[in-house]
Amino acid sequence: MRLILFGPPGCGKGTQAQLLCREFKTAHLSTGGMLREAVSNGTEIGLRAKEIMECGALVPDDVVVGIISERLDRPECGYGFILDGFPRTVVQAESLDKLLREKGLKIDRVVEIKVTDELLIERISGRFSCSNCGASYHDRFKQAKQGNVCDVCGGTGFTRREDDKETTVRERLNNYHAQTAPLLPYYHSKGLLAPVDGMANIEEVTAAIRRILDVL
Ligand code: AMP
Repeated sequence: MRLILFGPPGCGKGTQAQLLCREFKTAHLSTGGMLREAVSNGTEIGLRAKEIMECGALVPDDVVVGIISERLDRPECGYGFILDGFPRTVVQAESLDKLLREKGLKIDRVVEIKVTDELLIERISGRFSCSNCGASYHDRFKQAKQGNVCDVCGGTGFTRREDDKETTVRERLNNYHAQTAPLLPYYHSKGLLAPVDGMANIEEVTAAIRRILDVL
């Protein structure tokens, strides 16, 4: 299964990708996650990306395409993958098509998770994740079962993203509408686009995505 989870920041792509990858044993390819790792490791890519990410802008296409190209060749992608946060521009989508064509692969579905901007801002400003395993939580919508112990790995450290401040979130949403939403007609014209209601709760969204995958 090769899937793109598509939608604005905070729509639940990361949460759904984590759940589906655990269930289907596919690789979770989150460019945002890879870039945050590069920033915290102080690599050359991380140094290039840090300021751009902090102000909510998009990292240059050649950087993210390079990262994804390298990942697609790893054995962990052998059972398929879920792309989370990539592609985000038409150039990235075209580069992905080219990379997959060269490998004789194709995308099975592009699932668009639809959420209004007002709810996105509310969701993003309350979210945090386990510092150890990355499991996601939210102050209001998804608390850990035992207070400050991670449900998945038992870790007790949690982090909030630097770019989840409200002004940065608004910038990220503007960039989504200007640069990423134009990809919707691109995938629609290829017959790949499948929308789901991202305003529903986490379990309902997962169930809706599973129904889309059932018919593949
Ligand atoms: P995310 O975790 O997907 O919300 O991504 C966090 C930040 O990483 C974004 O606001 C961008 O600055 C950067 N980023 C992640 N994926 C991409 C991408 N495909 N193209 C450009 N920038 C990206």
